[in-house]
Amino acid sequence: KPVIVAIDGPSGTGKSSTSKAVAAQLGLSYLDTGAQYRAITWWMVTNGIDIEDPSAIAAVAGKPEIVSGTEPGNPTITVDGTDVAGPIRTQEVTSKVSAVSAVPEVRARITELQRSLARSAEIGIVVEGRDIGTTVLPDADLKIFLTASPEARAARRSGELKGADVNATREALIKRDTADSSRKTSPLAKAGDAVEVDTTELTLPQVIECVVTLVEE
Ligand code: C5P
Repeated sequence: KPVIVAIDGPSGTGKSSTSKAVAAQLGLSYLDTGAQYRAITWWMVTNGIDIEDPSAIAAVAGKPEIVSGTEPGNPTITVDGTDVAGPIRTQEVTSKVSAVSAVPEVRARITELQRSLARSAEIGIVVEGRDIGTTVLPDADLKIFLTASPEARAARRSGELKGADVNATREALIKRDTADSSRKTSPLAKAGDAVEVDTTELTLPQVIECVVTLVEE
């Protein structure tokens, strides 16, 4: 029976690096659900949809075709056939993704995609996000909730975004996490049966080893 691993947590906790490495080490597929929400946000922005208007977003939530590649060494993402791996990481998309992903019609659409990808994984899959253990895959074999101090998270993010100001990065990160945690439909949350791993004092290889050990137990 395919093994399903759910890895949730706020941004800057090392979720993506950890999830990809764990999937690669164990020969599992990998799904970045944040990339899917970024992709639908990119489409909304590109098509001039008013991000402040949830009903306008809801009305077109079914339109873009989002396809995720689940190979951990090469996780691709396309919208209507266009490769959007670069454009979904811009500051504009990052600042708007929380508003788009709070719309229930968007979540219903993306959640369905996620479940179908998880169902079709032959050996198993590592799925990273905010609501995977609570809502998308509540029957996952293992649920991990990654945390880290706001300082550690901001420092990691500004390291990734070369040259970015740590304070500005920290403000933007806290704003996004607050929005993601307070929305009504499946907010960022730790499942009751998730294992919490505080990564503040851990190196990436240590976090990876910790999760691999938990999967193998
Ligand atoms: O993980 P990443 O930072 O790329 O996620 C981008 C955004 O997508 C999050 O801030 C959140 O608004 C949304 N998201 C979500 N549910 C998930 C994964 C991401 O709402 N499972």
